[in-house]
Amino acid sequence: MSFPKDVAERALVDSGRHCCLCHKFCGSKIVLHHIIQKEDGGEDTYENCIPLCFDCHAEIKAYNHKYPNGMAYSESELKKHRDNWYLKVKASGGIVANEDHLELDQKVFLEIQRILKSDEVMEFIRDNNFAGFAFRYSRLEPINEFYHLCQKPEFEFLDVDLEGLRSKLYKLIENFRKEIAFNTFPVNSEMVSVPPEWAFEQPERFNKVVDTIHELTGQIWDTYSDLIKLGRRKLGI
Ligand SMILES: [Zn+2]
Repeated sequence: MSFPKDVAERALVDSGRHCCLCHKFCGSKIVLHHIIQKEDGGEDTYENCIPLCFDCHAEIKAYNHKYPNGMAYSESELKKHRDNWYLKVKASGGIVANEDHLELDQKVFLEIQRILKSDEVMEFIRDNNFAGFAFRYSRLEPINEFYHLCQKPEFEFLDVDLEGLRSKLYKLIENFRKEIAFNTFPVNSEMVSVPPEWAFEQPERFNKVVDTIHELTGQIWDTYSDLIKLGRRKLGI
């Protein structure tokens, strides 16, 4: 970390140790990134600093300006994201501060509760054994709906703590969907499964896939529970 201690401290406090791009709460797993790189004359100042999670930082670092693929974040864009997030952290005390904010956050929360029902899709995610047993793919449709809704910029909490959990849940679900997409195959027109024959033919892959899915589903359930509990407390729902 090359920012001086006082700059680093201010940035960490002002971001609440959340990533300024994806809003995930990072704790100690946070990087202070130079918006203008040091080799391009960027300084170790508060103005040139943006706190990021490891994933978002890796994505920004991996972008190759010589062989561009996709759209890089511009400097001004990074600053805007950062300043908006800092304002949010500032405005968000222990309780949701003003009435309008409360109403907007209640809407997002009710939408999440409507899509991700604890006794339906979430219970399925938590309890289903993905180790080579077929399941109905349509059972995951609410997960896909949540995932797509999260692409909309207005689908976020104004409250910083709730937003941190929503963002974490989104990332976990993104990884879960990837695992399912790459490692399950249709059994018939409705059912899919991690191929049970992998247990014998390629046990290493089988175990790795099943462990990863079970770990993700455990984390998804825990994060979902935290979000619901905190939402009920903060939003009075
Ligand atoms: Zn991030």
